Amino acid sequence: MANNLLESTASKSEEHEFYTPIPKGYKPGKTKYVIIFGTVMSGLGKGIFSASLAKLLQMKGLNVAPVKFDGYLNYDAGTLNPYRHGEVFVLEDGTETDMDLGNYERFLNITLSKDNYLTGGKIFSNVLSMERRGEYLGRDVQIIPHVTGEIKKFLRNLAMLRNADVIFVEVGGTVGDLENAYFIEAMRELAYEEGRENVCFIALTYILEPKFLGEQKSKAAQLGINKLISFGIQPSIIACRSHSPITNKIREKISIYSNVKPNHVVGIHDCNSVYEIPLLLKANNTDNEVLSLLGLKVKDGEKKEFSRWNEFVQNLLGAKSEVTIAMTGKYTEIRDSYASILNSLEHAGSALKTKVNIKWIETTEIENGKKKLEDELKGVSGIIVPGGFGKRGVEGKIKCVEYARKNKIPYLGICLGFQIAVIEFARNVCGMKSANSTEFEPKTPEPVIDILPEQLKVDLLGGTMRLGGRIVEIKKGTKARQLYGNEKIKERFRHRYEANPDYLKRLEEKGMVFSGKAPGVPIMQILELKDHPFFMGCQYHCEFTSRPLNPQPLFLNFIKSAKEFSP
Ligand code: GLN
Repeated sequence: MANNLLESTASKSEEHEFYTPIPKGYKPGKTKYVIIFGTVMSGLGKGIFSASLAKLLQMKGLNVAPVKFDGYLNYDAGTLNPYRHGEVFVLEDGTETDMDLGNYERFLNITLSKDNYLTGGKIFSNVLSMERRGEYLGRDVQIIPHVTGEIKKFLRNLAMLRNADVIFVEVGGTVGDLENAYFIEAMRELAYEEGRENVCFIALTYILEPKFLGEQKSKAAQLGINKLISFGIQPSIIACRSHSPITNKIREKISIYSNVKPNHVVGIHDCNSVYEIPLLLKANNTDNEVLSLLGLKVKDGEKKEFSRWNEFVQNLLGAKSEVTIAMTGKYTEIRDSYASILNSLEHAGSALKTKVNIKWIETTEIENGKKKLEDELKGVSGIIVPGGFGKRGVEGKIKCVEYARKNKIPYLGICLGFQIAVIEFARNVCGMKSANSTEFEPKTPEPVIDILPEQLKVDLLGGTMRLGGRIVEIKKGTKARQLYGNEKIKERFRHRYEANPDYLKRLEEKGMVFSGKAPGVPIMQILELKDHPFFMGCQYHCEFTSRPLNPQPLFLNFIKSAKEFSP
């Protein structure tokens, strides 16, 4: 039945009100859709939930593909301030996305692309270009059906592109946000067209547990779910985030108010690690409930991968030793800004059965003398200077790197951290006292870090950095070569500045080794120091490619060295 409906909705003519651009070759019913909405409040971990459930289905041998919808009008996440929105996660193809895409890549161990991420800005940009091309045949262009039609087209394209068995759609924000309303409407239409048996709606909600009452309350959750139902969307599963495990009373209340069977009301209480969520969902049998709702029958092939995942979590949580790593940065108050680095440290920590504690260092306080460097770095076994933009805190970071170099504390410099290491070395080892980056000091007489030549032509801010996966050639006989075990690797970049080729010789003469570079052009991509247990910098973001069961080599060996260092 759904198929006929799809055929009749596919026409663009003015004759009727249906308008659904179906991509050529799309087979209705072949791909199932799991669609996740947030209610009550944002920040509940919809992405983690979606990734965890998708992981369980992937473990059963299904081909899953995630998508995130973001309501804002930015074209991508590249122009968003990480302080407000969390880190910008860069995909292999250079798309700058929301941090949830990082969760999907890590949980599912797959490489995503621009086809897995959709913002309101991109949708409207597409619709307006189509309008200018006259593709709407004289129709007035409307949110329904044209904008919603584009959203459905995006999903169906992805279904075909990835040959997906199940697409997981995370609708960003919260039900009730005006900017998400058309995404929600598009999902209602999708279920109408694809057939209810092919779509599973899930509402993620929050169960309050105010301290002054000492008991769980479901009213806010009920109101949130009712709001979703008022859009014509009846959830099949309700996932309840809560501080402690939800009580039976709560489960029953939610069930009765929302027409969802009690065994489809799933509790997800606070856990020590997000990587526990798949285990929790498995214990609740949520994966099998979703399969039966979608009428999917699969072979039971999950055991081996599930036990590897379980082992990863047990090693992470039951670590016998610990190290403390200092992270310097501008956004230290908001941990989401460094989500992928924190995850990479967990991956390395689990592999080495070591708990990694983080000590956050606000380097402006070192600059203005409010805090002393030695006090701040006491007890620390490793220092990371992560990526960043702008001048704030830079001088404090340079001091941290100097301290790490002189005291032989393991150092990992990522992107900006690579550049800071070059500046520090130029100033304190090569005697170039005024060495700086033209990003911070445009008129510096010793621009050891300078704008990439290709960036001189760029005049727009969005999507114009040197972005995405690129080849790094690694020099023989270096530490980088030993750690990667390969002469060519691919890592992801996001920068405008580089180590200035005019100064490389002077830096190298004094012992800085540029062990990784771009093929064919003098863009330095990895640096290291010889007489140091671990001093490495990478111009790329090594944190984007680390996976739970396959820790990124720089992080792994950085933590190994940190374990051997006694502060
Ligand atoms: N601001 C530096 C540049 O643009 C570093 C960028 C980063 O750390 N991502 O090159």
